[in-house]
Amino acid sequence: VPVIEVKAAEKTFPNGFRALEPVDLTLKPGEFLTLIGPSGCGKSTLLGMMTNLLPASKGKLSWWGGGFEQTGTPGKTLSIVFQDATLMPWATIETNARLPLDLAGVPRPQAQERVQAALAKVGLAGFGGQLPRQLSGGMRMRVSIARALATEPDLLLMDEPFGALDEFTRNKLDADLLELWRERDLSIVFVTHSIYEAVFLSTRVVVMAARPGRISSIIDIDVPGP
Ligand code: ADP
Ligand code: ADP
Repeated sequence: VPVIEVKAAEKTFPNGFRALEPVDLTLKPGEFLTLIGPSGCGKSTLLGMMTNLLPASKGKLSWWGGGFEQTGTPGKTLSIVFQDATLMPWATIETNARLPLDLAGVPRPQAQERVQAALAKVGLAGFGGQLPRQLSGGMRMRVSIARALATEPDLLLMDEPFGALDEFTRNKLDADLLELWRERDLSIVFVTHSIYEAVFLSTRVVVMAARPGRISSIIDIDVPGP
């Protein structure tokens, strides 16, 4: 069953701006798909539609074979990581990483256990009691990845997560992300400006073009079997 099926989905914003021409795309389980292209080509718009939060103006999307009329993703979890780590500055690392679990009503002991495991996975065991400002930019991004991992997602959608970091830190996080992806049954959609990231990380690269925003070509690198 495809993780996401996008069928002729297009986007015209309420102000009349046409951000995306009709897009067809299938994300298979275990794929690491990158969206790459110039500013304004609609990468974030497409990612937004793939999160199930930004409605397509026309066309349809389906998650995990739930059909094109579905409103949720029952039994499956998707999680989103933004360019900015978006941490609450007054809350500890642990509390920040636990937020989605608290909102979902996961019992505290279980939530705590998952957060500790996620923080350890991103190399931040022992930092749970610190505040965001006590950590480097790269470490804060790790916290936002841990926050996503703690939800044990089937699908991770990342919008230029390392775009604001220096090249050295980005390379390090790229390598760590690859390791996380390899060790678990996880599909990833990853927006980037970096052709290096696209080729180094992906099983499949979706190249987009601007004016009008559209998919220009899809490059298969290492697509897993059906
Ligand atoms: P990218 O992520 O590739 O830089 P975006 O998906 O953010 O591109 O935006 C695509 C185009 O849609 C841009 O020209 C942007 O200005 C425009 N856009 C984005 N959001 C809105 C909105 N809410 N209303 C109108 N135009 C928008
Ligand atoms: P990143 O590449 O994630 O930004 P840094 O380059 O800032 O990480 O730091 C490298 C490593 O040094 C971190 O992964 C962390 O283990 C350790 N480190 C960084 N800042 C601190 C700190 N304030 N206290 C203890 N260890 C730290």
